[in-house]
Amino acid sequence: MFSLYIHIPFCVKKCNYCDFLSFSASDELKERYVAALCDEIRLYSKDLSKDSKEIYTVFFGGGTPSLLTSGQINRIMETIHEGFRVIDKAEVSMECNPGTIKGDILRSLRESGINRLSIGLQSAIDSELKALGRIHDYEGFVRTYSEARDAGFDNINIDIMSGIPGQTLKTYEKTLTEAVNANPQHISAYSLIIEEGTKFADLYGADRSVSYTNSAILPLPNEDDERRLYYMTGDILKAAGYDRYEISNYARPGYECRHNNVYWTGGEYIGVGLGASSYFRGYRYKNTSVINEYLEDIEYISDRDIPVCYDVFDEYKDSDYKGYCGLHDEVTFIEEKDAMEEYMFLGLRRMQGISMEGFRLKFGHFYNDIYGSETDRLISEGLIEKDGDMIRLTPKGIDVSNSVFVRFLLD
Ligand code: SF4
Repeated sequence: MFSLYIHIPFCVKKCNYCDFLSFSASDELKERYVAALCDEIRLYSKDLSKDSKEIYTVFFGGGTPSLLTSGQINRIMETIHEGFRVIDKAEVSMECNPGTIKGDILRSLRESGINRLSIGLQSAIDSELKALGRIHDYEGFVRTYSEARDAGFDNINIDIMSGIPGQTLKTYEKTLTEAVNANPQHISAYSLIIEEGTKFADLYGADRSVSYTNSAILPLPNEDDERRLYYMTGDILKAAGYDRYEISNYARPGYECRHNNVYWTGGEYIGVGLGASSYFRGYRYKNTSVINEYLEDIEYISDRDIPVCYDVFDEYKDSDYKGYCGLHDEVTFIEEKDAMEEYMFLGLRRMQGISMEGFRLKFGHFYNDIYGSETDRLISEGLIEKDGDMIRLTPKGIDVSNSVFVRFLLD
């Protein structure tokens, strides 16, 4: 059983903090891209055996998937259904940005099988949205949210962000309160990270070292305030009945994001589209990030019926065919050591933690033989706790999670 990720790399304009693979595109390019996506889905479907063709979740991510027409999304959904068996009640999510989608389109998306929407609010304060370079204002979010509800979406995530230039405890409290008042099933709350190569990195420095006396450029919250914002997230969302089930994700009971849980629990997934990653049968694939290369390679591979999965590729390996090499920038066999490390990093992001028996079943080694002594040290430092078969971060461990994760590196 797989999860399927579909990357839509198009955006109206680049946000100031964004380092995702996204750009603006003409209608003609979008149309070519959708045709290539459908071909890529067919290629995977052809390579995979019948019994492994069950799809558990689908996630349209981006970029801004809501910039495609409902007809294009419908075509992708039909191609998925033709090539795979999508299980009953599969979670089918789509990311959408306020101001890029209207009520009638939302209705047809619902009809084509999308049953979960993830809406990027980020902030309820217009000056903060402007600082981020978002294309919408708060009013635009309210409209999109209510149209989504009217269209029948009863499983909605709202993305919010802390650490935005100009943000204060008071303005962030307003964002959290508005998000809670909208009563979505799920809230993702991330802190702003200044990524290399973004407008914010130019403005504030990738290490946040540039400060301004110029009042036209809003300052980033200082470290103490960032800490306070972080704690406020947990306090307000908990009081409103949202369970924190992952470091940055909160949900009403029964509404955890099933697709992301597949990533966090080491499950198998296929990623289609520009720059998308896949992980199955022990291999990790990374698609090319160059749009023309992607479009041309899909066409080349489809025309010649070349496999895209490495383990059925053997007979083509030494031939002149470009095969997976063209489409995939990298194909890596994940060694056991790397798989165990990843299992720990990702699994510990979840509040329920990891199961020691699950570890043994997955890797054939007793957890304690691999991580027993490091776990004991982390327990004595108050960063990890053991509860029966489960190992999880303590509240203190959550606060310094990255420094805990590196302790699970094996050399
Ligand atoms: S909408 Fe999302 S993907 Fe697009 S530029 Fe903004 S942050 Fe990046």
